[in-house]
Amino acid sequence: MSQQNIEPCASREEYLALVATLQRYSHEYYVQDAPSVPDAEYDRLFRQLQATEQSQTEWVVADSPSQRVGGKPLAAFSQVDHRVPMLSLDNAFNDEDLEDFNRRNQERLATNSDLEYGCEPKLDGIAVSLMYHNGVLQQGATRGDGSTGEDITQNVKTIGSIPLRLQGDDFPEILEVRGEIYMPKEGFAHLNQKARDKGEKEFANPRNAAAGSLRQLDSKITASRPLEMCAYSVGFVELGSAPELPEKHTDILYKLRDWGFLINAQMKVAANIKECISYYQHIAEVRDELAYDIDGIVFKVNSSEQQQRLGFVSRAPRWAIAYKFPAQEEVTILQDVEFQVGRTGAITPVARLEPVFVGGVTVSNATLHNRDEVARLGVKVGDTVIVRRAGDVIPQIVSVVEDRRPDNATDITFPEQCPVCDSPVVSKEGEVVARCTGGLICAAQRKEALKHFVSRKAMDVDGLGDKLIDQLVENGLVESMADLFHLELNAVSALERMAEKSAQNLLQALEQAKQTSLPRFLFALGIREVGEATARNLAQHFGNLDALMSANADKLLEVSDVGPIMAEFILGFFADSRNRQEIERLQAAGVQWPDIEVKAADELPMNDLTYVLTGTLEQMSRNEAKAALQELGAKVAGSVSAKTSVLVAGPGAGSKLKKAQDLGVEIIDEDALIALLQQHR
Ligand code: NAD
Repeated sequence: MSQQNIEPCASREEYLALVATLQRYSHEYYVQDAPSVPDAEYDRLFRQLQATEQSQTEWVVADSPSQRVGGKPLAAFSQVDHRVPMLSLDNAFNDEDLEDFNRRNQERLATNSDLEYGCEPKLDGIAVSLMYHNGVLQQGATRGDGSTGEDITQNVKTIGSIPLRLQGDDFPEILEVRGEIYMPKEGFAHLNQKARDKGEKEFANPRNAAAGSLRQLDSKITASRPLEMCAYSVGFVELGSAPELPEKHTDILYKLRDWGFLINAQMKVAANIKECISYYQHIAEVRDELAYDIDGIVFKVNSSEQQQRLGFVSRAPRWAIAYKFPAQEEVTILQDVEFQVGRTGAITPVARLEPVFVGGVTVSNATLHNRDEVARLGVKVGDTVIVRRAGDVIPQIVSVVEDRRPDNATDITFPEQCPVCDSPVVSKEGEVVARCTGGLICAAQRKEALKHFVSRKAMDVDGLGDKLIDQLVENGLVESMADLFHLELNAVSALERMAEKSAQNLLQALEQAKQTSLPRFLFALGIREVGEATARNLAQHFGNLDALMSANADKLLEVSDVGPIMAEFILGFFADSRNRQEIERLQAAGVQWPDIEVKAADELPMNDLTYVLTGTLEQMSRNEAKAALQELGAKVAGSVSAKTSVLVAGPGAGSKLKKAQDLGVEIIDEDALIALLQQHR
């Protein structure tokens, strides 16, 4: 949303109420590390504040959030006065804002020439100041209100990527390094999972988790949290006998890297503002694959001399700007909840939302997962909720904005009968999911099983989409998977919106799909918990279907990725005579695949190797890489240790890369991995 759409406050009362609301939100965000509204909502209100203050200068109050940076430091920590203020950044929300920023810079510098910019992802964490005296870390501090921060020296010392002593000998006598402390996505997910398991409160996002972890009075807690630090500038500098720092901002960062800091691997120099826009677009595309959350790109005039000439305004430098990405979290209203029946009968509550633009698309549905999730969120119909959509992940409801709950909000009640087939709904002991007991009587379960069966990674039947499956089931043409292979041209072409040509194409696609592979067939069967990678492992291990169908639990547990629960589902599936009959019918209809040559584990080429994957892979997904390595016998571990044989590092790699370098582990990039995998094909 651009600045133009923001209406200033109509009265002074409204303005003062807005100041109070923003102050409360700032306190929740900066001091309590527990925001109640998403950043997009805060930013919108903040821009309304700015628009009002521009048109009604006489209304401006001294404690307006526009007049200061961040929040007051917590009294529990001793205070640190910043020798050079730690400021915030101005924001751009579209290309025009960015071009305006460039134009203003050119005007102030009285030049028509292109300005060079340093481009860096804007890490979503918490700013830190690190003070080094003669290369030794003396003090770590938060930004606080920009002039006074909190002393968190003991806590920053626990973070592996912060050097306690600088490398080399050409660093200034006193050097203040500034950067962002952040929690990578994977670490954040683990931390919240642990909190969930213990029934403790979860953090709203990695930024709040990083802030909360850093402002702990007990540094042992900080040490246990997966934090990293990335350097992005210098603050106070007293050279002593050291040489001058480089003139360009980006070269200063390379110096910081030489002295032992992590800098962002995506950092780039742009020769002009057009290149900045291309950079922004590129990072927006790879954003979801980065190992950490970013909320925009920071562009900084690259020449230190030009930076000095441009100077500062009250809360931000003139020479830098944060171009924000479209929000991944937004507020909207939960209008209703419907219950969907899945392939295995699982009843999923689906939130119907007032449509909202988030994560680059308009979202009107979000999953509420199950009863426990509804209880955890404490959500009611009518509530204002925060909805999150990041990348291709289905939209989620993250939390409820409780102070916006209307009086007529109603509880969400789970159905006792299946909304599709009326069969009783039961929850097994120890399971959070409620299931329809209708099995294949239930049209919803049948449809979902068929959709899965024909999907791209399963039998891959071209042109057989969800709508057509619905029609086939509703018209009684197909009840089970094998029925698909007995469809007749007349019946299919008689379906609504179905021409004879497309009916012919469908039958041909079904004919082609009969030639498949064992992993695809196993995945297509839709055995609970058996995903694509497990199907591949099962096929590899047993080589043919008969061997798998007659395996007992012990044999199944020998397969990598198969645990006791999954083994039980597999045994249960093949023990059911209906499933066995269905498999026979499929084979009788002509579905076939070649057997796989089974190799003993010690014959596999990567049998005794342990791989770790880090950073972004651009040509394959992490799961694909993992499955391909496992197929060759390698173990794929989550963290680097002395036992790691090879680290595959893509762009954006952080602490794992550093650790592998320290341990002398072999490091390869994605191209080398692909070459290696091809060698063994
Ligand atoms: P900011 O976070 O938008 O930008 C400044 C910060 O960016 C710096 O302090 C630094 O920590 C960080 N940064 C990351 N990468 C950087 C890089 N490469 N170079 C320089 N700096 C980099 O500004 P702010 O004043 O700290 O906070 C404003 C933000 O906080 C807004 O996005 C706002 O939505 C959010 N906020 C939200 C709430 C809420 O209730 N949800 C309340 C207050 C503030």
